[in-house]
Amino acid sequence: MKRFLFGSVCILALACVIVVSDMVPLYATSIQEEESKKQELENNLEDIEGVISNLEQYIDDEEAYINQVDAELTVLTDGIYDLQDQVKAKKKEIKAKKKEIKAAQADIDVQYESMKKRIQFMFENGDAMYSQMILGSENVSDFLNRAEYINELTTYDREQLTKLQKAKKKLNKQKKKLENEQASLEQLIADEEKKRLDMETLIANKKEVVDGYTADISEQEAAALEIQAEIEAQEAIIAELVELERKRKEEEERRRQEALQQQQNANLPQYDGGQFLWPVPGYYRISSEYGTRSDPFTGLSAWHNGLDIPAPEGTPIIAAYSGEVIWAYHSSSAGNWIGIDHGDGIVTIYMHASKLLVSEGDRVNAGDTIALVGTTGRSTGNHLHFTVRVNGVDENPHNYVG
Ligand SMILES: [Zn+2]
Repeated sequence: MKRFLFGSVCILALACVIVVSDMVPLYATSIQEEESKKQELENNLEDIEGVISNLEQYIDDEEAYINQVDAELTVLTDGIYDLQDQVKAKKKEIKAKKKEIKAAQADIDVQYESMKKRIQFMFENGDAMYSQMILGSENVSDFLNRAEYINELTTYDREQLTKLQKAKKKLNKQKKKLENEQASLEQLIADEEKKRLDMETLIANKKEVVDGYTADISEQEAAALEIQAEIEAQEAIIAELVELERKRKEEEERRRQEALQQQQNANLPQYDGGQFLWPVPGYYRISSEYGTRSDPFTGLSAWHNGLDIPAPEGTPIIAAYSGEVIWAYHSSSAGNWIGIDHGDGIVTIYMHASKLLVSEGDRVNAGDTIALVGTTGRSTGNHLHFTVRVNGVDENPHNYVG
């Protein structure tokens, strides 16, 4: 909303500059707002990352469970293979037993045939009624029952046949037992197979659950990517606002400096080309002119950069022109000395004073008393050394003080 305001105001190009400077709090609020929006997005992202982390934990748990069931399933399957091997062995035994039974039946048949032959013999040689009764038998059991009544039948034959019958019965019993065992094993296999199927179903279900979690993670990751993009967009907005703020401050500082410069310029003395005043009113004799002269201390030829104006100690020295005191010092060579800036690069310098009456930064008008004549520093007697410096070059003061 505030950004919109800013934008819409800026469309009025003329008002824009003024508006920008008036918008200081708006910028600050805006950046703060955008930062809090970003923070909110970052919180959302953190939440999503928490959800993803939980889902990953769920998957780890499910997979650990699947691995456990899988291991159990392997043991179970191995057990089923064992049982199947046992069934195979059992079938082999049953097959062998059947063979034995068949052999026993063959023995019985042989015995039966030989007995019948003997009875035939008895029939042809014995009582006809007996023979008829015996030959009317329907099967071996019936025959044996009838044979009980037949005295002629040998004990040997009867016992032989009974023994063979018993042996066969025993074999049949054994076969039945094996078949029962096989059936039990097969039931056991069926039960184990059912368990195996249940486990496989369980694993399949768990894998489906894991797939569900994986899909959830993908969804959450997509959402996280979206939020990350939003955060980046938010960062771009913030960067833009920060840049605008920086530019605004830069502009503010530039204008502040400009205003300061203008103020300084306004304060600076401007030399208007007027005539300079004689710096020591009443004392016009010059003891040493501007130019090459003999140094009063060494006697050697030396450059003299100003005028020496002798006067009694305490005589007022005045500002030759209006300006600003830029130097007011004591030095071993110049003694107590003053420099006044008159603008346009023109500076007047006053040396060897007994006393300075102004300080650095003071504004003075032409004719103001600024110091008193003396002989401080490198001086041979009370006088004012007066220099006019233009753009850093000492010029002949006569050109300015007439
Ligand atoms: Zn001098």
